[in-house]
Amino acid sequence: MLLVLLLAAISPEAAGQLVGGAMSDGVAYSRLEELSDTIGPRLSGSPGAEAAVSWAFDKLKRDGLSVRLEPVKVPHWVRGEERGEILPRPGIVGHPLYLTALGGSVGGDVTGEVIEARSLKEVAALGSAARGKIIFLNHTMGTEGGYGQFVELRSHGPVEAAKVGAAGVLLRSLATASLRTPHTGVTQYEDGVPRIPAAAITTEDAALIHRLLARGPVRAHFTLGSRWLPDADSANVVADVRGREKPDEVVLLGAHLDSWDLAEGSNDDGAGVAMVMEAGRLIASLKTPPRRTVRVVLFMNEENGLAGGKGYAAAHAGELGRHVVAMEADSGAHRPIGIVVHSAGDGAALLKPWLTPLASLGLDSPIDGETGGADIGPLAPASVPFAGVSVDGTHYFDLHHSPADTFDHIDAESLAKDAAAYAVLAYAFAEMPQTLARPPPAERKPHSNTKPSQAR
Ligand SMILES: [Zn+2]
Repeated sequence: MLLVLLLAAISPEAAGQLVGGAMSDGVAYSRLEELSDTIGPRLSGSPGAEAAVSWAFDKLKRDGLSVRLEPVKVPHWVRGEERGEILPRPGIVGHPLYLTALGGSVGGDVTGEVIEARSLKEVAALGSAARGKIIFLNHTMGTEGGYGQFVELRSHGPVEAAKVGAAGVLLRSLATASLRTPHTGVTQYEDGVPRIPAAAITTEDAALIHRLLARGPVRAHFTLGSRWLPDADSANVVADVRGREKPDEVVLLGAHLDSWDLAEGSNDDGAGVAMVMEAGRLIASLKTPPRRTVRVVLFMNEENGLAGGKGYAAAHAGELGRHVVAMEADSGAHRPIGIVVHSAGDGAALLKPWLTPLASLGLDSPIDGETGGADIGPLAPASVPFAGVSVDGTHYFDLHHSPADTFDHIDAESLAKDAAAYAVLAYAFAEMPQTLARPPPAERKPHSNTKPSQAR
């Protein structure tokens, strides 16, 4: 038994190169700095997104991976001037509103009475009382969760408000910290329903409106200059370390290259990009490549359309049966706290002996559970098993989709540990003699930007 266990494990040499390289080379950190500072925001269709595609292509090629660009058409939405205010009334001064358009919002100029609602049900219940008003969507998201619970206010609040005749929407940012910065994110309209302007306000301004409403009627005004342009040509960046024995079997390691436009997206998802590029670099540098192909995929358009994730699944439909596992690093550069496997049967037991190189990071006891990522969601109907690294997401939503998602918030040590974990995971799945049992086909709802899973 001991012999079997020893055989079913990563060679000390490979383990040293993967973990040692990730922990001490500093490459992921310096690349994330370069991506953040020299390219900056990368919203789909923007010059930054295209520059990032070229940048990643060049780096991966230099690292010795076999790289190609796979074209995808992406939506192209641009933010314009945006401002707002609570209007003064007798006895109460006016206040500026720090706000930002929700991704995809139409532009416009809205003035009206503000009414508060705390759920889509409450919006619908307003009925004709909402006509011509500004619906203020308030909620109680905190560090103990809540994003998954309240994200429908952002994605579907504006369309539900329009159905009852509202003129515009102000959403309390889906954030755990704010310092008066608004947090954006995508909203979705429906055909046949008027498209009304929708913006996120800061948590401070949301609290102010709530207090003022207790004193009487509140009127506000806001202007959004956002607009839609024709769809743009872009690409997923796909880079292989070709397997030595079973090159047709693929271990997919993904992240998304696009970001929101308010900041350089260092945490969402520049960090994931840096981690998976680093894993690819380290695996490509091994003397002996793993048995199967390790494929790094940098998806385009996760934030406002998922064109890259859907496009990859469609373009590779014929080979998804040979995708032995898919992972997506999209939880920020936070401290890793566990490894999760989603397969049929006991995937964690199969993986466990391969994780000894991660023992010093406390990551050698994987668990079976739910994991995934928005871009790999479209692979679930093809029964592709998923795996992932759980992180301590307590502060993920402090920065998420806000002007504060900047490089200085990145913790170098956590980023290095995450990269080490992904490198070992990808290598293990590519090298182990067996593969994970495939789960039944599932229609997974693409849980774009859900809170990073916490294994605690
Ligand atoms: Zn993301």
